[in-house]
Amino acid sequence: MLLDAEKHQKQFSIIYIDIDNFKFVNDKYGHEIGDELLKAISAKFNYLIAIALKRNDMPFVYRLSGDEFIIMLPEYDNDSASQVCNKILKLFTNGFNFERGHFAVTASLGLASYPQDGSSITQLISNADLAMYQAKNTGKNRLAHYSNELAKNDRQLKEIEFLLKEINPEAELSLNYMPVIDHADNVKGCEALLRWHSPQIGPVSPAVFIPIAEETGVFEMIDLWVIEQSFKDYPQLQSILGEQLQVSINISSAEVHSDNFIHKLKTLCHQYGITPGDFVLEITETFAMEQSSDAIQWLERLRQLGFKIAIDDFGTGYTSLMQMVDYPVDIIKFDKQLVERITQTERRHLAKALIDLCHIQSIQVVAEGIETSEQSRCLWQADCDIQQGFLIAKPMPIDTLKQWLEEHRYLERVV
Ligand code: C2E
Ligand code: MG
Ligand code: MG
Repeated sequence: MLLDAEKHQKQFSIIYIDIDNFKFVNDKYGHEIGDELLKAISAKFNYLIAIALKRNDMPFVYRLSGDEFIIMLPEYDNDSASQVCNKILKLFTNGFNFERGHFAVTASLGLASYPQDGSSITQLISNADLAMYQAKNTGKNRLAHYSNELAKNDRQLKEIEFLLKEINPEAELSLNYMPVIDHADNVKGCEALLRWHSPQIGPVSPAVFIPIAEETGVFEMIDLWVIEQSFKDYPQLQSILGEQLQVSINISSAEVHSDNFIHKLKTLCHQYGITPGDFVLEITETFAMEQSSDAIQWLERLRQLGFKIAIDDFGTGYTSLMQMVDYPVDIIKFDKQLVERITQTERRHLAKALIDLCHIQSIQVVAEGIETSEQSRCLWQADCDIQQGFLIAKPMPIDTLKQWLEEHRYLERVV
């Protein structure tokens, strides 16, 4: 096809397809049903493509491996190939049905076209694959086109991945602290927030590099560095912000189940003479959703060491509060988006109800992302325990905490 296109200056397109949630079918119904589903999907692809191309002189649908397919569309440009892609997606409206039943699978599609998206087959397939990943990452069950923008992002991510593996923590990592207050405006604690300044590419946000660190396995080294650094900083933090200070540390969700992590944590506590009760370990809601009994046991072990456990970013996932309050946690942190929603006038009654529900289960509520005094007032009225947000303080290096505290106390007196 490539030779023909080169010779006669024609276009063609490649669709890369990955079936979403296919593993679920194998796990739940067994491999035999999984195989049959793949055959049924292939048959529908073949049928659809034969009609679209009006030719069957050679195969156009290929199975690469597992649940991955490639479809070749000779003489199709990007636009006409998109239309075929939409028809493929339609096969999966409401899942996929065939004589063995109804299966909740969908498809993620990536599209690359010759000549603009590549001049060799390897390049075109790999670019269609990259686009397919984009479709997966933006919510599955959709089509994504390959583009230079996509390739640029991918190169950046790969560079971050590479630089993370080579990281020199002492020279490149640092911690900022973000103070939090109670209703009486006392500083109750602070959250340790990691900063990475790469000598090659400058500052990189933790929201960008933490997920990459989790995928590539360097998160444990980073988490342990953060823990050790905040243990080292604790006496100084106490001397500035108060004896009763609680320091919150974010733990990668990839850490869950790790015995090694618990072991290292214990060692560091001994080494720095730390009382675990002075620290809160924050785990994101997405992890908590897994709800496996293993994960619960792992959290229980951390609690038995004396650490407090907080569920971070509550409100961004799809966990119900009822599930959450059954979890072995001490603190729930309402995410910025949730805070915005429940402080809107017509939803205020919700704030109080949500917080009461947590209190009944002896769970403390921290509201994050407080940016306006209106939000702050509304949540204090609803009995929220702790507030954190730019209204109170931004994350800052340890050296500037003292100055912040003086200004904060001054403002408190004059307002
Ligand atoms: P997070 O744990 O939910 O941390 C709060 C994030 O929200 C911080 O961003 C903070 O600067 C920001 N924030 C707090 N209040 C406000 C506000 O009022 N307005 C706005 N616009 N933003 C606010 P940051 O420091 O960029 O951290 C992003 C995320 O990266 C964290 O979310 C956490 O999930 C992760 N992270 C940060 N440090 C670490 C770390 O040491 N280890 C691990 N595993 N993850 C970390
Ligand atoms: Mg956090
Ligand atoms: Mg948070």
